[in-house]
Amino acid sequence: MRLLRPELLAIESCCRKTQNAASRRKREPPIAPYNSTVASFFVENFGCRATQADGAAIERQLLEKGLARGSSAIDAEVVVLNTCTVTASADQDARAAIRRIKRGNPEARIIVTGCYAQRAPEEISRIEGVSLVVGNSHKHALPTLAANLAPKGFVSVASIGVGTAATEAAPVVIGDIFAHTELMAAPVFDSESAAERTRPNLKIQDGCNNRCSFCVIPYVRGKSRSLTMDSVLHEVDSLVEAGYKEIVLSGINLGRWGNDLRPRVRFEELVRNIVENTAIPKVRISSVEPMDWSNELIALVAESPKICKHAHAPLQSGSDRILRKMHRRYRPWHYADRLERIRTAMPQAAIGADVMVGFPGETDEHFEETRSFIESLPFTYLHVFTYSSRPGTPSAAMAEQVPVYVARERNKVLRDLIAEKKHGFMESLVGKEIEAVTLTNQRDGMTEALTDNYQKAMIAGEHTSNQLVRVRLDRVDGESLLGVITSVPSAHHEG
Ligand code: SF4
Repeated sequence: MRLLRPELLAIESCCRKTQNAASRRKREPPIAPYNSTVASFFVENFGCRATQADGAAIERQLLEKGLARGSSAIDAEVVVLNTCTVTASADQDARAAIRRIKRGNPEARIIVTGCYAQRAPEEISRIEGVSLVVGNSHKHALPTLAANLAPKGFVSVASIGVGTAATEAAPVVIGDIFAHTELMAAPVFDSESAAERTRPNLKIQDGCNNRCSFCVIPYVRGKSRSLTMDSVLHEVDSLVEAGYKEIVLSGINLGRWGNDLRPRVRFEELVRNIVENTAIPKVRISSVEPMDWSNELIALVAESPKICKHAHAPLQSGSDRILRKMHRRYRPWHYADRLERIRTAMPQAAIGADVMVGFPGETDEHFEETRSFIESLPFTYLHVFTYSSRPGTPSAAMAEQVPVYVARERNKVLRDLIAEKKHGFMESLVGKEIEAVTLTNQRDGMTEALTDNYQKAMIAGEHTSNQLVRVRLDRVDGESLLGVITSVPSAHHEG
C-alpha cells in the first residue's frame, strides 16, 4: 500500500478493522451517522455497470456516514469521480470532468477513484483541483476518507493537507489490487429518481482471473470474487419488497461466480436458488463468457419462466488466429456450438455479444472471418467496440496496430449487419405474445416496456412502471415493437 499522508494511514488502518468486524457481523443494521453537521456529496460514475454498482455502494456508505446527497457536482462539497479506464477516451472523459468540476465548483473536494485511479494514480494526482486519489484497492475506505475530507467533517481539511495546485500532487491511497478481497455492491438503477426506477442491476461478482491480452480490467479490479449466496438472496428479497419485478444479475466475469467461495458453488446453483427461493418474478443474466454457458445453465434458462430468455456471450472475434492472439479461451467452433444450443433450446431468445474490431494484426481476411461468422449465427444484437490500446496490456506492445480509420470502417460494417439481423428478429415476433416489464417512459398515450427477450416495446395505454404484463406484439415501428397488454400474469411458482 502506498499512502502519502500519515493522517490517511491512520484512517486506513481504522477502516480495515471496521471491515473485518463488518464481515463477522453480517446483516447488522447500518452504522449510525456520526457527523452532527452535514456535508454534501455527489458521486459521478463513468463506464460499465460494475463501476456504477461500486458508485451506488459508495453513495450508500456516504449516506450512512451522515453526509447528504447533493443535487449535482457543481453544488456538492465533496465530489467523487468514479472512473473507467477501458479505453483511452474513458480516461479523457475523466480528466475533462475534473476540469469541468474545478471550473464550476472551485471549492469542491474532488476525490477520484475507480479503474483509471487504480491504473494511473500519479497522473491523476497532478491534475489541478484533485484533492485525493483512491484506487480500487482502497475503494472500501473511500467513505471514511471522504467524510473526513468534507469541510464539515470532524477532521479538519487543513490537517489532511489537500493538494489543489497543479504543482502540488494530491494524496494517493492505493495498494496491490490482487491482494484485494472486498466486493462492494449496491443495486444500480436506470434513473436517479426513485419514482423512475425499474429493473435494478445487482453486481454479484467482481474481478477476473483471465488475462485477455487487450484487457486492463484484471489489473484494475483484481482477482475474481463473489458475493455470498446468502447476501445475494438477501439483496434480491429487499428488491422484491421494494416492488421490483425484474432484476439483472451482473459481474465482470459473472459465470465465474462462486469459484472463490468455500465450499465452491456453481453459478447455475445460485440462479436455481434465486428462482426457487425468492419471489422475484423475473431474473435476467447480463453476460456470461461463452464456455460458461454450460448445458445445465442453458436448460435452466430455457425451462424457467422466471428467467428472461436472453443470452449474452462475449465473442470479440470470429477469427481463430485473432482469438488466439487475444488469449481468449475458446475457438470459433466452440462458440458456434454454444450459440446453436442456446437457439435450439430457446427459439425466441435474445442473443447478443461484444465484438472488438481493429485488434493488432487483424487483416481484412481476419475481419471477413468475423463478419461471415456473425452473419451465420442467430444474433439479435451486438455491442461493437473499436480496439483501444491500454498501457501495460500485452496487446499494446504488439506490432501491426490497425489504423483507426480502418477499424472505424469495420465497426460500421458490423453495425449495419446487426441492424438488419435485429430488424428480422423483431419482424419474427409480430403476432406473438410475450411477458414484459413496464418502464417509466410514456409518450402519445403509450408506455414503454422491456420484453422477456430484451425488446423495447411501446404498449397502448398509460401504465404504471414496474408491472409484469403479457403483451401481444402487433408491428415493428423503427427501433421498437408496438403492442397491447393481453393479461397480467400472476407470480410464477417454482420449486
Ligand atoms: S474475461 Fe477477458 S475481457 Fe473479460 S474482464 Fe476478464 S480479462 Fe477482461
